[in-house]
Amino acid sequence: MLKLFSSQVDEVTFEGRRFFIKRDDLLHHDFSGNKARKLYHFLKADLSAYRAIVSHGSIQSNAMYSLSVLAKRKGLSFIYYADHIPKLLRENPKGNYRHALKNGMQLRIGKPEAGAGELFISEGGAVKEAQKGIALLAAEIEQWADHTGFANPNVFLPSGTGTTALYLQKYSRFAIHTCSCVGDDDYLHKQFSQLEQSGYPHIIKKRKKYHFGKLYPELYELWQKLKVQTGIEFDLLYDPIGWQTLLQSSLNDPVLYIHQGGVLGNETMLERYRYKYS
Ligand SMILES: *Cc1c(COP(=O)(O)O)cnc(C)c1O
Repeated sequence: MLKLFSSQVDEVTFEGRRFFIKRDDLLHHDFSGNKARKLYHFLKADLSAYRAIVSHGSIQSNAMYSLSVLAKRKGLSFIYYADHIPKLLRENPKGNYRHALKNGMQLRIGKPEAGAGELFISEGGAVKEAQKGIALLAAEIEQWADHTGFANPNVFLPSGTGTTALYLQKYSRFAIHTCSCVGDDDYLHKQFSQLEQSGYPHIIKKRKKYHFGKLYPELYELWQKLKVQTGIEFDLLYDPIGWQTLLQSSLNDPVLYIHQGGVLGNETMLERYRYKYS
């Protein structure tokens, strides 16, 4: 069985302030970050009634890669639907796409459909089953707080679908703070409401609007600064927006930042940054 769960907490100083980092990026080589938490249920479940896992979303998504690992471990086919694939990437696979292909992913362009014997997991792993693994994350955070003696740590993590933040709040006695990275705050709120009726995490408002996946020199610089000052590589899609929002917020020490993995996707992001701004 895959040895997963739990991850360590590191203490770092960034911009002269103390932060604690929950290193979910180190959970497992193949299966890291919040996707490992979200897919934990499926990893443990008996999926022998299925012959394939079907999902959809962006061609560089971290979830896509993690699902390819899950399918491979379970001996299932993995069919992934995307709207399109850039010609360059098709000819020269990189990052999450390359690694998912190595795991046997079958890419289809178009609208997702799943038939008999196919387990459908919606985009980004935004499913109710995700709560099982996230409940474990909540328990680890409580253990850490008990151990360190922090009565009320501020827990922060950036959101995509919001599934991780939502279920973390559901299972945690601490305040969970997040910010939207894909779409705006209304979109994030809507995403919450598709999974639960109430008990939402606190959404910290961003000062500036960012288009998800677009390149912003200031975000790249922040990512670089984080790497130099903390020695930790963060993801380039969500984390710079998360840190930017966190630094501008009024959240007080102690802050626990959840590192949700995703560094495999940095290869393509870095290439785009270098190409555009070199
Ligand atoms: C998927 C992902 C997120 C977003 O997680 P949600 O549960 O969809 O909010 C954030 N950070 C990283 C690194 C991710 O891979």
